[in-house]
Amino acid sequence: MHDAAWVNVNLATMVSGYGTIADGVLAVRDEKISWVGPRREWRGAAREEHDARGAWITPGLVDCHTHLVYAGNRAGEFELRLKGASYEEIARAGGGIVSTVKATRAASEQQLFDSGKKRLDRWLAEGAAAIEIKSGYGLDRDTELRMLRVARRLGADITVRTTFLGAHAVPPEYAGRADDYIDFVCDEALPAAAKEGLADAVDAFCERIAFDVPQTKRIFERAKALGLPVKLHADQLSDSGGAALAAQFGALSADHIEYSGEAGIAAMRREGTVAVLLPGAYYFLRETKMPPLEALRKHGVPIALATDHNPGSSPISSPLAILNMACTLFRLTPEEALAGMTRHAARALGLQASHGTLEPGKAADLALWDVASPAELAYALGASPCVGRVRGGRTPR
Ligand SMILES: [Zn+2]
Repeated sequence: MHDAAWVNVNLATMVSGYGTIADGVLAVRDEKISWVGPRREWRGAAREEHDARGAWITPGLVDCHTHLVYAGNRAGEFELRLKGASYEEIARAGGGIVSTVKATRAASEQQLFDSGKKRLDRWLAEGAAAIEIKSGYGLDRDTELRMLRVARRLGADITVRTTFLGAHAVPPEYAGRADDYIDFVCDEALPAAAKEGLADAVDAFCERIAFDVPQTKRIFERAKALGLPVKLHADQLSDSGGAALAAQFGALSADHIEYSGEAGIAAMRREGTVAVLLPGAYYFLRETKMPPLEALRKHGVPIALATDHNPGSSPISSPLAILNMACTLFRLTPEEALAGMTRHAARALGLQASHGTLEPGKAADLALWDVASPAELAYALGASPCVGRVRGGRTPR
């Protein structure tokens, strides 16, 4: 006997392509999917039967790259820039990442939780089942840990994977001493986060305006010694060898990768590193360098998509908008885009055993959509057709 079954439903299992099952049945037992298939083959019985009225069910969406927890915002800076202010003038006016660091350091754990929760509700309204949340606006030990504690607490309503991103930027008190800051991250902040069990993975920003390859290597070696998987902000502004470095350390993912060359991409394929594309930052920063889609496809690297939600370069709280941007800006197909926010994004978080597809044994974390075809999820912009969310086999709240 199954606990519940959804009938009168179309399924996009996302096991391969959309994995479409028209007029299907999905059953759950003990918080997991227990049966998926066409209605004509369904012989089971369920304690509860839900009539989905022709809706589509997909795996709950997975957003594998966000900076969701922070204080303040950068609307003032946005406005200044549009009035013609230079980066220097904005920096003098206290803008840039430093302003977010200052506001986040000044915020209490409860304040960070409240603002994070308010944002997170947008993801829940668009059918999200799992989200990654990074630290990286504290850049000191206590604030980095506070951000990660808040991220953990946000996991009450959604599966949260936390990422320690102490090497996001050099904080003002270490200006001109990036190597000393890396010492601090490796010797104090990262071990403290690991000791408290607050980090599921470790990330760094490897770029000419942040940390170079040798500095990033030191972070990765420390992470490895602590038994934590790594991922990387790689090759966003230049080909700095980030994709190859990520692959060398068996990273879960290399993210951004607009400037990655083919050798780095081939290395990612060999090591099973997922490519995470972030069209929101590309859009917001009005970038022009496209990620190397052809090389990714040629080498068969799994392509995930994420919001990269953050106050500086991607203040976007909509996974569905990202599906659309991936198609309009990067020319992904709607099917590739949806796979990028389900199957491949789950792999980028190490959640492929529990999330990303509709298969027996996986978590019963589902999204229900009032659409006529799954392509509509990437096609429309600004109207969420999400009509239901199931977590652990139950409808939340
Ligand atoms: Zn990011």
